[in-house]
Amino acid sequence: MLALALLAALAAALFGAAAPPKHDWPPEVQKALRSITARECLEHVTVLASDAYEGRDTGEPGGRLAAKYVQRHLEELELEPGGDAGTWFQGFPLQKQPRTGPLEEVNLLAAGKKPRDPKAKSYRFLEDFVPALESKEGEARGGCYLLAAQPWLPGVAPEIPAEAKGRIVIAPEPPGADQNERTRTFSATLAKAGATAWLVLPTEPEAEAPKKESWPVFLAEDAPLCTLPVLRLSRETAESLLKKGGMTLPRADKGKPAAKTPAGPLKDVHVELAVARKGFTYGRGRNIISIHRGSDPKLKEEAIVIGAHYDHIGFAKNPQLTRGKPGELHNGADDNASGTAGILEVAEAFASHKIATKRTVIFMSFDGEEQGLLGSRYFVAHPTFPLEKIRCMLNIDMISRNEPRAMYFGKLDRFKELNDIVEGVARRFGIFLNPEGMAQYMNRSDQEAFIARNIPACFIFGGMHSEYHTERDDVELVDPSKMEAIARLMFLFAYECANHEGRFGD
Ligand SMILES: [Zn+2]
Repeated sequence: MLALALLAALAAALFGAAAPPKHDWPPEVQKALRSITARECLEHVTVLASDAYEGRDTGEPGGRLAAKYVQRHLEELELEPGGDAGTWFQGFPLQKQPRTGPLEEVNLLAAGKKPRDPKAKSYRFLEDFVPALESKEGEARGGCYLLAAQPWLPGVAPEIPAEAKGRIVIAPEPPGADQNERTRTFSATLAKAGATAWLVLPTEPEAEAPKKESWPVFLAEDAPLCTLPVLRLSRETAESLLKKGGMTLPRADKGKPAAKTPAGPLKDVHVELAVARKGFTYGRGRNIISIHRGSDPKLKEEAIVIGAHYDHIGFAKNPQLTRGKPGELHNGADDNASGTAGILEVAEAFASHKIATKRTVIFMSFDGEEQGLLGSRYFVAHPTFPLEKIRCMLNIDMISRNEPRAMYFGKLDRFKELNDIVEGVARRFGIFLNPEGMAQYMNRSDQEAFIARNIPACFIFGGMHSEYHTERDDVELVDPSKMEAIARLMFLFAYECANHEGRFGD
């Protein structure tokens, strides 16, 4: 016995320091936990806090780039988009002069099997489709109806059946002399029948890509427009789209239309499209929202939120936001590229390891935090998930500095059960939670918006430092192992909260 104990003590002395604390979480949870690594956290921060991201200022190109980076990572995971109308983003207005950005980001055509299909195929603007010269600007989404696969003879236009109502109609250009005129006229006919948009099939059998130069961004102010969004498809796009719906595009024999061509609704095809001449507006903020669905038949209707802001202060154009030099690039590595990395890692751990949770888990990357909690306040005012079903919120901000195995914990007494869960997990995990001096921070990050709606929330924070909100908050100073530890803890907090039966506080 003694020898065994000695051996154990020797082993502990040799390996003890590096041995992880005792866990009794299920093996798949521990495996998912280990997938959250310092290396991956650091990779995210290295990108997000690089000069190319220009300090991720809200409504600026760098902020836009950061939103894209976060979205791309979420898209690769098996998560559902949780933003506006089936997208990953929730946009919100800012009080600043809007400028416009790339057209290919707003002119869209995508086809999947269902709404919000993460596997939907996106077609390329100006390559696979081009909006009609005088298309109406706007969006449409829904099922498709193939009205005719081939052009009809003048005067024998097919009747538009009631099934086309509420659908995106696929049809070739009707015959006639003035192309723009007949496009407009037929779009009006389709709109009258209740169609929401028109995808124009190429009439030439050998038609390839639509012509780029055929889409003018600037139209005369009084130019007559179509009544619907109208998109012209390349032959390849048309074939791919119809194939998804179990139909084929017949090759027309020169001069004579085929006697019988397919028509009807496309099966299991959901299309989303948008036409906009001005490109997106930079003067908007963007939250990024994704969803990991719960598995309990009842509790999955409820959700817990885990969030972190991804924006920072850019070139500190607003001198009130910097403690350093206004006009210099503020990369915000700790604030809050670190928390953003944490959210990405936690989302990945849940999704890649298919961790079943009773409740739904929502991951949020907030924009506009630095300008006054704009993104989180917008979300609680315009929730994309029923607010009354959100049971608690965990916020992380600045998790990569100061002592590696200690962190600050901002809590409110009235959310006792939530605090107990968090403190219990930290104890099991062997991390010290310091509540000291945190009262002053409770209204300074995104948990505040949730607390204001009386949703139990808490705040995980790595602590203050002298580079805070200066041009010196750079990736060289972050501690990857601290990010790993806190992100792992966040994963466990979220896991426990999502499975907790009972209340989280008043
Ligand atoms: Zn922050």
